[in-house]
Amino acid sequence: MHQPIPYGRQHITDEDIAAVNDVLRSPYLTQGPKIGELEQAFATYIGSEYAVAVSNGTAALHLCCMALGVGPGTRVITTPITFSASANCVRYCGGDVYFADVNPDTVLLDPTAVRALLESHPAGYFSGIIPVDFAGYPVDMVAFRELADEFGLWIIEDACHAPGATFISETGPEHRCGDGSLADLAIFSFHPVKHIAAGEGGMITTNNESLYKHLLRLRTHGITNKPADFTTPYEGEPERGGWYMEMPELGYNYRLTDIQAALALSQLSRADAMLDRRRELAARYDFAFAEAAANGLPVQIIVPPTEVGHAYHLYVVQTPDRKGLYDFLRTKNILAQVHYVPVHLMPYYQKLGGKPGDFPNAENYYAHCLSLPLFPTLTNDEQDYVVENVMTFLKSVR
Ligand SMILES: *Cc1c(COP(=O)(O)O)cnc(C)c1O
Repeated sequence: MHQPIPYGRQHITDEDIAAVNDVLRSPYLTQGPKIGELEQAFATYIGSEYAVAVSNGTAALHLCCMALGVGPGTRVITTPITFSASANCVRYCGGDVYFADVNPDTVLLDPTAVRALLESHPAGYFSGIIPVDFAGYPVDMVAFRELADEFGLWIIEDACHAPGATFISETGPEHRCGDGSLADLAIFSFHPVKHIAAGEGGMITTNNESLYKHLLRLRTHGITNKPADFTTPYEGEPERGGWYMEMPELGYNYRLTDIQAALALSQLSRADAMLDRRRELAARYDFAFAEAAANGLPVQIIVPPTEVGHAYHLYVVQTPDRKGLYDFLRTKNILAQVHYVPVHLMPYYQKLGGKPGDFPNAENYYAHCLSLPLFPTLTNDEQDYVVENVMTFLKSVR
């Protein structure tokens, strides 16, 4: 029997371990010098002006919603095909989540569906959009920016699947997802299954200086010790010494530790090489399954146009008997996975009004999708074993 092959797995090197060890011997365990280093390096990697490290991707989403003023009565649009956190962040702040369907060709939030939703409500009804670069395929940020400008919305790009992915704008395909040029804020996760592992960790990128400063404060309780940020007048106050700090608003403890930052930094130094390997593996899958489909086997894949720089967090095949394929692969120790149960069908969101049939493209995709193993250390032999077994199954159901 083959060793279990998961759908995703982190890769930890001796250099990663040494970097973490160095922090353990340093005076800083939680937020220290490694945080600033990681923020700087990540902003450079992505091409944004600012980056704010936080404790995980979900905390990043929560803080973004807070910084953008989401509260009771705020209405925000997102995709049903994402991890629940992309929607939950709005609920944390008391806002209302609206979903719009995905484009079946890309499985990304469809700007046309979002426009229809916007146009069927009065002006000012919605406040923001949270598009997701699902699987690593960059969303059409140019279209969303146009919608946002036309309807007065902000954008939080959930780029958890897409560090290093590139998108196209008038100036060409060189932009990296989350570079601050189109979305107001973008967020990333350093969960071990994502491109860069930190154990837990997250990052927010932006080109907006005031949002940046606000996020820094929100991640540590809403407290500031910078006199320039104090909101109470000095007059009449008792003497203020170096100890003085203020909490002008409620924040959280969403700090990343230096231990995690050191691991993320070390991983980031290999990010491009790991991304290249993901793309190489995806191309090998593409080759095998395009041929299978051409030979009449019941399998469908999504191949983006060449100018799209897909980051391949996931490699998804779609097939009519998805459960059959999932179960068959388990018997071969291939731990394929389904991404995602549509968020509007989660019992929590059904209680808020979501129901089967709301988003046919998303639901049809969910009925057929399976994410095959894809991670930088997957060997060609392991991948061949996966392909071979997928083919065996597809031939058996043809
Ligand atoms: C992983 C993920 C998150 C949440 O990140 P955590 O670091 O696990 O909190 C949010 N959105 C998407 C699309 C994700 O894949």
